[in-house]
Amino acid sequence: MRKLFSALGLALSVLLANGLGLIIASAAESASGAVNLYSYRQPFLIKPIVDSFTRQTGIRVNIAYVRKGMLEKIKMSPGAVDAVLTSDVGSLNDMSEAGLLESVKSEILERNIPPQFRHPGGRWFGLTVRGRVIYASRDRVAPGEVTTYEDLAHPRLRGRFCMRSGKHVYNVSLIASIIAHKGEAAAREWLRGLSANLARKPGGNDRAQAKAIYSGQCDAAVGNTYYMGQMATNDKKPEQKKWAAAIRLVFPNQGGRGTHVNISGGAVTRGARNREGAIRLLEFLSDDAAQKLYAEQNFEYPVKPGAEVHRRVKSWGAFKADAIRLSDVAKHRAAAARLVDQVDFNNYGVRKNN
Ligand code: FE
Repeated sequence: MRKLFSALGLALSVLLANGLGLIIASAAESASGAVNLYSYRQPFLIKPIVDSFTRQTGIRVNIAYVRKGMLEKIKMSPGAVDAVLTSDVGSLNDMSEAGLLESVKSEILERNIPPQFRHPGGRWFGLTVRGRVIYASRDRVAPGEVTTYEDLAHPRLRGRFCMRSGKHVYNVSLIASIIAHKGEAAAREWLRGLSANLARKPGGNDRAQAKAIYSGQCDAAVGNTYYMGQMATNDKKPEQKKWAAAIRLVFPNQGGRGTHVNISGGAVTRGARNREGAIRLLEFLSDDAAQKLYAEQNFEYPVKPGAEVHRRVKSWGAFKADAIRLSDVAKHRAAAARLVDQVDFNNYGVRKNN
């Protein structure tokens, strides 16, 4: 009976999670030792890797692709999912702080994933790595003109900078990393400088910033590395190839602390009914074969040292990543989000019109 309830619970929460979106889980399957998985990461990326996990282990995986609100969904139906996959450290940290994640001890995960990229208590694990870099206009930003995050706040960039919302998880983590290294006061000043340099109200996604550089609205922006690969190879929306071509990738702070990196990652939920299966899935995702697929499909960096890197990603050149533990960055996320409000970062247009 409990199994039936759990199956119904999952089916229900999957429906809630997806609306009219993808539903792969079925009530019949979830009752039979399969791993129930919530994924913020998209089907094109996850499906082939999870299929190969099932082929190798015989363990079926019911995947619910979730767009947002994963934390609330897990709270609403505890035990309905065994594992989660997310596309940044922030949501993992939030779920961990909300007490929704299980502490996992696994030699395989500890061997494959450097301590920098996993929770010290085993609550979450990084599976791929991406740099949050500077997109600079090839035409309007001279080589060497912008080499650090700090440069983005310099007055010579006045009216030339654009960025997605300061509250977006990627930017919150970047700001949190500045707090971790330099303290809150310095981070506030930096954010004020960025705000003063804005060419337009923060908004759109990372690709929208690339488009804005291509179309001349701004000269420099912040974005994740893999979007450069996605745009440059986008045959469905070939205009994005032009956006990518307009941009020079700058890995910031190479002479100092290194470029801020973030992870996509996974975790086992607290009270998971299929804890063992969930751990095996994470272990599989951290091993060579999956790492290659996982990183290559989305132009990311494998988290496992020595795993193969896509040649396009290699062509961007080696870079020095900030070595700080992401758990130490994540601690400052709440303060980072507060700073965004304090400097009124997202209300650029409103401020200007007053
Ligand atoms: Fe992304």
